[in-house]
Amino acid sequence: MSSTQSHRLPTTRHGRAGAWFRRFRQVPGTEDLSRFTPLVEDAVRRRDELRELTDGDVSELAESITAPDPHDAASLVEFLAVASEVARRHLELEPFEVQLLAAAAMLHGRVADMATGEGKTLVGYLVAAGNALSGSRVHVLSANDYLARRDAASGAPFFTAFGLRAAAVSDDMPAEDRQAAYAADITYATAHQVGFDILRDRQRTADDPRLVPELDVAVVDELDAVLIDDAMVPLVLAGDAGTDDSDLALAAAVAELRAGTDYEVDPERRNASFTDAGIIALERRLGIEDLYDEEHTELLTAANVALHAEALVKRDVQYVVEDGRVQLVSDARGRVVERQRWPDGLHSAIERKEGVAVTAQAEVLDQVLVETVVRRYRSMTGMSGTALEAAERLSEDLQLRTGVVATNRPNVRVDEPDQLYATTEQRDAAAVARVAQAHLAGEPVLVGTRSISDSERFAELLSEQGIEARVLNAKNHAQEAEVIAAAGQAGAVTVSTQMAGRGVDIRLGKGVADTGGLLVIGLSRYDSSRLDGQLRGRAGRQGDPGRSVFYTSIEDEVVTDHLEIGHQPRAVRADGKITDRRFAKLYEHAQRVAEGKVLQLHRTTRQYHKVTDQHRASLLDTRERVLDDDAALLKYLEAIYKSKPELATYWSDPDRRDLARATVLYHLDRAWTDHLGMLTEVREGIHLRALARESPLDEFNLIAGRNFGKLGARTSREVRRTLKELRKSGGGLEDLGLRRPSSTWTYLITDNPFGSEADRLADFFGRVLRGGRAREVEHH
Ligand code: ADP
Ligand code: MG
Repeated sequence: MSSTQSHRLPTTRHGRAGAWFRRFRQVPGTEDLSRFTPLVEDAVRRRDELRELTDGDVSELAESITAPDPHDAASLVEFLAVASEVARRHLELEPFEVQLLAAAAMLHGRVADMATGEGKTLVGYLVAAGNALSGSRVHVLSANDYLARRDAASGAPFFTAFGLRAAAVSDDMPAEDRQAAYAADITYATAHQVGFDILRDRQRTADDPRLVPELDVAVVDELDAVLIDDAMVPLVLAGDAGTDDSDLALAAAVAELRAGTDYEVDPERRNASFTDAGIIALERRLGIEDLYDEEHTELLTAANVALHAEALVKRDVQYVVEDGRVQLVSDARGRVVERQRWPDGLHSAIERKEGVAVTAQAEVLDQVLVETVVRRYRSMTGMSGTALEAAERLSEDLQLRTGVVATNRPNVRVDEPDQLYATTEQRDAAAVARVAQAHLAGEPVLVGTRSISDSERFAELLSEQGIEARVLNAKNHAQEAEVIAAAGQAGAVTVSTQMAGRGVDIRLGKGVADTGGLLVIGLSRYDSSRLDGQLRGRAGRQGDPGRSVFYTSIEDEVVTDHLEIGHQPRAVRADGKITDRRFAKLYEHAQRVAEGKVLQLHRTTRQYHKVTDQHRASLLDTRERVLDDDAALLKYLEAIYKSKPELATYWSDPDRRDLARATVLYHLDRAWTDHLGMLTEVREGIHLRALARESPLDEFNLIAGRNFGKLGARTSREVRRTLKELRKSGGGLEDLGLRRPSSTWTYLITDNPFGSEADRLADFFGRVLRGGRAREVEHH
């Protein structure tokens, strides 16, 4: 806002203030940020004074700020004013008042809901600097590696003026560079990178540097993407464990089965299960007697996994095949996610289904959920264009309060009501007609689709009408920047998956503002209204004109997955448009159900990780002490050599200490890897028969607890045995064949495409029990 305009800050978003106010009042976990307005006004006045100063004076002022205290008004005002002036001089960006307001709120630990294109990056600079100057170590968690690098680099002149150093961590960096980046005052990285490095630290030996210092303050960009959409993604550190040699015969046998007769897919397409006929067909093809026999448990599990791969996981929806590799596509972002794979053999099953080389099976050394990483920060704040929609969850799960920041210029985008049709075909026809109409008028159009195949299909439909669209999806992400840059030009038609979502800025071409700006058309809504909001946000940035509208149908997955429609629509036009008012809230309803399911899924996932996390923490505590502290090592040795204290003395001798330490670490890590492997097997159902039927979670925890209880004693035994052999041989661990993994790598395990672990357990039970009963009937 320029100084000629009124200094009074709007406290609601322009344009949709009424609607906003109603929503705002209803959303628990939100807060009115107008109490920061006077502060911002003071800061602007002070900034105007600073404008007269020389560059040298401003630098001096910046360097003199040591510990801005957000709770002391004068201190906060001075910091915001100086930071604002530094940004103007060193970044050539003068923060808008709304940006200062967001920064003030975030320095108070609030989450800022700020629309797309409002300049959240710059707000992040102010907040990061404010925290760093107060002596906190700051991590700015970016949406991807590219943005981390970009933002750290462009913010550097600003940070330097305050005597602060900012650095970025990215995927391809060697350990020393990572360590250096984490040692900076402000570190830009994705939550994934931080998580991976924490995992690496947990495996470190006496020779390795520690990468990540104690987690302090996090400023999370696109906060709800990290804390909700990605929250339950397990980050995995894996070591090589040979290739999976399970046979192709199974995949071939499953591929020949027929849907409906040999297996059934539930209406939500989350689960597929064999029918009796299917089981018999499999047994015949595999030449075995009874697949439900105990000796075939592993085969039965593998068959179920192969069935999932065959029937539920779809090419060009959940994954693409690129360069002979199966690559996962993120549902929320519509883009290929590097280093991501499915767990529990499903990935190999898909590789076999697609006939590509089956990649090495990894042995999971350790894993951590994104949410667990982020929860470890001492304090957290963040910003997003769709934080408001997530406010309630952020408040419940993380005790974060969200406030809405008004846009700098009035948002004049028109969000039209949904156009609901009876069938997908009619929906598409209507959307094509709308694109054609806009195209004729020279308006640029961005069409958002839910999947890669949808984007290609819709581009085909447009092509049949003589409209050539640029397609942007996970298969051609290389051209992303170019396609996006062109998307706002007059006459451009772009069809994109959700990858045109977060962090992307579509600028309007010449004259486009006069023809109404960008038209965003959503083809079916997403499972979450937040993702709908992200797509709409591509239009109408920084006061640009624009429109958004969703074309939907009652055949859309979101609807069919989550609702049973009891009645047929009565009022349907000839072109299939439903005007029946009873269907007006259909989508809201379906999305609420969908969001409820995700919430439930997150709860169960969290529950499944809880006990394991506690076990890990206790093991890591021992590990860290043994690693860093000679006295702790001696204590450990004394404990395992209670009856032979002379051995503890022998091994804690400075000449032998390192070998003893390496031995203890080796066996602790080995034990943990085995423990995790065992838990995976439990989940996969190998131990199904040992589990009671009542509560899979209780049983899971019971088994986990029992196994972990024995882990300490087992490790001591192994350590004693190894040390004995080492003493005899005089060699090192390698000579005994005790090697740490020769190569480690990281990957994410995707959100389970067919339900939470708990769902799957329950489902396996159901299937085994159902199957078991059916067979009894058959045999007797
Ligand atoms: P967001 O992350 O909120 O979508 P960005 O931080 O990517 O937005 O900024 C969008 C664009 O606005 C960038 O080109 C940025 O340089 C510009 N911008 C941000 N703040 C200002 C400002 N105060 N004055 C002028 N341009 C700004
Ligand atoms: Mg951004």
